[in-house]
Amino acid sequence: MRPVDWCFMKRGHNSRTGAARSPPSVRPVRHDPPMPEVVLDGRAVPYLLVRNPRSRHVRMSLTPDGLRVSAPTRLPQTEVERAVASKERWLRRHADMLVPFTPAALTDGMALPFLDGTVELGVRTAGRASVSFRPEDGRITVAVPPSHDVGAEVRTLVERGYRAVAREWCTWACDHFGAQVGATPASIAVRDPRTRWGSCSARGAVSLSWRLMMAPARVAEYVVVHELAHLVHLDHSADFWGLVARVLPDHRADSAWLREHGGWLWRSPGAGHRPAPPLSGAPT
Ligand SMILES: [Zn+2]
Repeated sequence: MRPVDWCFMKRGHNSRTGAARSPPSVRPVRHDPPMPEVVLDGRAVPYLLVRNPRSRHVRMSLTPDGLRVSAPTRLPQTEVERAVASKERWLRRHADMLVPFTPAALTDGMALPFLDGTVELGVRTAGRASVSFRPEDGRITVAVPPSHDVGAEVRTLVERGYRAVAREWCTWACDHFGAQVGATPASIAVRDPRTRWGSCSARGAVSLSWRLMMAPARVAEYVVVHELAHLVHLDHSADFWGLVARVLPDHRADSAWLREHGGWLWRSPGAGHRPAPPLSGAPT
């Protein structure tokens, strides 16, 4: 069994078993001011500390806002700080993701990541803002009115295009993999949550991040299978992982990719080349 810190299960009343579940117990604790900090190469790196009664270890992840640390509820603050400081190698590897960032400009002719390939961005001026994302043609075209803040407008439209394509892809993927998992979601939503790639509620509502459209296809598929498997097991138990492994035997490499390169997904599109996809059968 491996801990997962990007997936959220909304327990509440479970309509499948009829059992009343405990309410969601993950709540962010923001120390304001100051946020806890870790010092890396003489530079203070603030982080968001989230106390989680279900977690047994201190885990670190990257969000668009920087470093997020999840720690067991009763672990003393000094031990949390010691655990974070001990992950120096990890922090150094992700140093450029620990600071607030300004998204790169999205310009005409740029190649943007889309599943295992890329699409070419076309930017043109027009009287009315619009976006057309055609993965089959390898093109995403946005039209922006000339008088606008073009940079921000292009990014908004590009994201809108990704969301529309993500809704189609996620519907296909839930249908395709739902048959293998043996579960059908009650609803499928595409969102942009700040700290997770997917979630599943006790009522069977699956929610997925549109950013998965920029990940290698097998990574996006893994997140779908992961959430669908929660329709059968609303936990991260051994049975849950057994079901995931039955559909995707190599899923550990996919979750490792997300842990390692989630920061790139938060900064994309416009964050440069996609990191190499996970290798089949790679040990983790
Ligand atoms: Zn999960």
